[in-house]
Amino acid sequence: MSTIHHDIESLAAPAEPGARASNFIRDIIIEDLKTNKFGGRVQTRFPPEPNGYLHIGHAKSTYLNFGLAAEFGGKTNLRFDDTNPEKEETEYVESIIKDVQWLGWQWDGLYYASDYFDQLYAWAVQLVKAGKAYVCDLSAEEIRQYRGTLTEPGKDSPYRNRSIAENLELFERMRAGEFTDGSRTLRAKIDMASPNLNLRDPIMYRILHATHHRTGDKWCIYPMYDFAHGESDSIERITHSICTLEFEDHRPLYNWFIEQLGIFPSQQIEFDRLNLTYTLLSKRKLLQLVQEGHVRGWDDPRMPTISGIRRRGYTPEALRNFCAAIGASKTNGIIELAMLEHFVREDLNRRALRVMGVLRPLKVVIDNYPLGKVEELEVINNPEDPSAGVRRVPFSRLLYIEQDDFREDPPKKFFRLSPGAEVRLRGGYFIKCTGVVKDASGSVVEVHCNFDPATRSGNAPDNRKVKATIHWVSAEHALDCEVRLYENLFLKEDPNEAPEGQDFHANLNANSLDVIEHAKLEPSVRGAAPEKRYQFERLGYFCVDPDSTADKLVFNRTVALRDTWAKIEKRDRTGA
Ligand code: ATP
Ligand code: MG
Repeated sequence: MSTIHHDIESLAAPAEPGARASNFIRDIIIEDLKTNKFGGRVQTRFPPEPNGYLHIGHAKSTYLNFGLAAEFGGKTNLRFDDTNPEKEETEYVESIIKDVQWLGWQWDGLYYASDYFDQLYAWAVQLVKAGKAYVCDLSAEEIRQYRGTLTEPGKDSPYRNRSIAENLELFERMRAGEFTDGSRTLRAKIDMASPNLNLRDPIMYRILHATHHRTGDKWCIYPMYDFAHGESDSIERITHSICTLEFEDHRPLYNWFIEQLGIFPSQQIEFDRLNLTYTLLSKRKLLQLVQEGHVRGWDDPRMPTISGIRRRGYTPEALRNFCAAIGASKTNGIIELAMLEHFVREDLNRRALRVMGVLRPLKVVIDNYPLGKVEELEVINNPEDPSAGVRRVPFSRLLYIEQDDFREDPPKKFFRLSPGAEVRLRGGYFIKCTGVVKDASGSVVEVHCNFDPATRSGNAPDNRKVKATIHWVSAEHALDCEVRLYENLFLKEDPNEAPEGQDFHANLNANSLDVIEHAKLEPSVRGAAPEKRYQFERLGYFCVDPDSTADKLVFNRTVALRDTWAKIEKRDRTGA
């Protein structure tokens, strides 16, 4: 977790549209196709455990599993790895199905590891009969002690040499529910002195009297991940079982079970887990954020979940382009969040319609504009996409502009509106500030201007220039909307880096949500449906939130535009 990829441009999407960044898994598949290793087949699977919502890390995994199979005419199964009845829920199954679909992937088969419980049990019996598995009465704690360490070999369990007949009988009785949780396990008989701890007689089955979301109370013994996963792969004749690097040390065990059982040899390939700066990617910790109320739910737009990212306004295309650019490797690193943002800006820039909206309104009165007159000014919907056409925006005597776009006492290099200064209104006239009205506390509540009727085209006939173009909305026509602005949930690049005795809670950003109750939007957005995305000129990309009602739209800011003024101010402050 040490390399941070700082150079976004070098990691940016491949220059050719549709071209893919290469990755080593792709190279393995190409090689396997050349040597006809699996008879020319490519069959992958995406195997989420339904114990939480999918996150951006899973987007990478789906990109590799579904994307690579599709590229080589192969197929991908969606398989729920539901071997742990205690943490799994149908709510998660449903959310995962929805998220995979939204990401744009189509699975071939939809399976559950629990579909295979009968087959797994039969295979376990087969290993017992072959003298390759035994029932062990050690407690979990004793098993840990017997396992040894990385530097010391383990010790054989006193139950290791039970007869096959006794093992068969005890395993059958485990299944029949005669024993209490944790009192016995079924273990593979491999090698307690193996340098690989995973091969020191790993547990295959444990007793758990728990109701399973699909098999109900049929079972009170459940297979461990290591015994279920490779066997499920084999049943589905998976050719390339792509998983994250922490399973590298499990591969010898994955292969051992397959060899002992003599079943279809799926091939496990490990890649680097996605880590992002300022972001937690662990379902367990994300669940904590939800349960403790630090966010409004799994789909809170600050969450790195697929449902949160979607609500925030990201597109599946942006996520795919991001995944294509990061590729896959054999060493864990950390990707900058800014890189993900780069891809959503790039995508939305191409397709989001531009509109004008004012987040923190300041009244502007155009004194020389006729009272009651309304003009419809024509503006371009998307300069990147001529086919998006034009729209008409009402202009009148009373406007709102952004409070930030006016300074009574402008600092150097502030080129926007200030007393005596002239600016262009986006899509319309030049206006010049003639004075201000203040409230009792001295704050400016109204700015007075004159407009130049000859500048309707956005240019002056005498060729005089203005240094700024600002956005605005006509007060009488504006829609009152709620806008939610977000900052990172965590203040540190590594949210887990906390003082002794503390954890990621210490790094929570108290200002991650800023709700603006009364933003003013141009009327063209009226009735926009949830997930509709816009660029609010000069402010960023925004997306309609499902909390919107017929009376009031709610917008989430997906990502800000690059703010050059903030950079100048920062540079000036730091004297750089
Ligand atoms: P978490 O630690 O968040 O609970 P997990 O690995 O337990 O994740 P699973 O539901 O088991 O989550 O993951 C399904 C698939 O997605 C697995 O193949 C896993 O390796 C992969 N995956 C999970 N997290 C990431 C990540 N951050 N980057 C890439 N792939 C991931
Ligand atoms: Mg897991």
